[in-house]
Amino acid sequence: MDIKKVMVIGAGQMGSGIAQVCAQSGFDVFLNDMSEQALEKGMKNIEKLLMRAVEKERITETQKTDTLNRLHPSTTLTDAASCDVVIEAVVENMEVKAKVFAELDNITPKHAILASNTSSLPITEIAGATSRPDQVIGMHFMNPVPIMKLVEIIRGLQTSDETYQTIENMAKQLAKTSVEVSDLPGFAANRILMPMINEAVFALYEGVASVEDIDTVMKLGMNHPMGPLTLADFIGLDTCLYIMEVLYEGFGDSKYRPCPLLRKYVNAGWLGKKSGRGFYQYG
Ligand code: NAD
Repeated sequence: MDIKKVMVIGAGQMGSGIAQVCAQSGFDVFLNDMSEQALEKGMKNIEKLLMRAVEKERITETQKTDTLNRLHPSTTLTDAASCDVVIEAVVENMEVKAKVFAELDNITPKHAILASNTSSLPITEIAGATSRPDQVIGMHFMNPVPIMKLVEIIRGLQTSDETYQTIENMAKQLAKTSVEVSDLPGFAANRILMPMINEAVFALYEGVASVEDIDTVMKLGMNHPMGPLTLADFIGLDTCLYIMEVLYEGFGDSKYRPCPLLRKYVNAGWLGKKSGRGFYQYG
C-alpha cells in the first residue's frame, strides 16, 4: 500500500512526536486531539522543536516550513475518512482506546490500517473493537520520538502479513529501526526494562546500596547512559508501577511482583520528575 495520508490521535507527549516525525518524512498528517488546548500545545511543541533543529543546522528553514505545511490540526475523527494509516496515541486506557478504534472502523476507508502506540495493552483486544482485526497492529514508539530510533511492531493474533509489511516499510520511511514482537504483556522493551527498574527499587528497599550508588553501578559498571532510578523518575513512577502490574497480572508470575517501596512512593504522590520528587528531588 502506498501511504499518503496519516492521522495521529492524541497530541500529547507521544502523539505530537509521532506526528512530527511522520510530517518530516513526507507524509501528509492530521494531528487529532479531543482537547483544543492539548492540540495547540502539541502543535506549538512541534514548531519549537523544528525551530531548534534549524538553529542547530540539522534541518533547513525550507524543510521546517514544508514539515509544518504537511501538518493539519484536527479535532474531529471524521478527518480520518481520507487516511491510509491512523496511529492512536491517546491515554493508556482500554475503554478509551476501544471506543476510538470502534469509531475509526466506521470512519476510515476499508484499506486503512489502524495502529496503536500502546505501551502495555493487548493489541488483540484493541483489534476486537473493530471489524478489521487483520488491519490492526501495534506501533510502539519510544520517548522522545524524534530522537529514539526504535519502534516495536506488535502483531495481534489476527494481524495480517500484509499489514505487518506495510507498517514495517512505514517505520523505515520514518528512519526508525523496527523489531517484530508478539502480543504478550510488556511486549519486549518494557518486559526487559521494567523488571530491571523494579529490581533496582528492591535493592534500595533492602538496603543493598544508596540511590546514587545503585545508579552509579549501572552507569559505570554496565555502561548504561542513565541509572535505573534516574530513568524511573523520568518515566514516572506511576507508569513504572502500572506496567509492573500489567506484567504481574498478565503472567501470574511472582518474579514480576512490584516492589512495595515503588508502590509506597506512588501512594505518596512521589511520581518522579513530573511531580518534583521521586528517588531524587527536582527543582
Ligand atoms: P499524554 O497524556 O501526554 O497525551 C494523551 C493525549 O490524548 C492528550 O492530549 C489527550 O487530550 C488526548 N486524548 C485522550 N483521549 C482522546 C480521544 N478519545 N480522542 C482524541 N484525543 C484524546 O500521553 P502520552 O504520554 O503521549 O501517551 C500516549 C500513549 O502512548 C499511551 O498509550 C502510552 O502508554 C503510550 N506511550 C507512552 C510513552 C511515554 O513515555 N510517555 C512511551 C511509549 C508509549
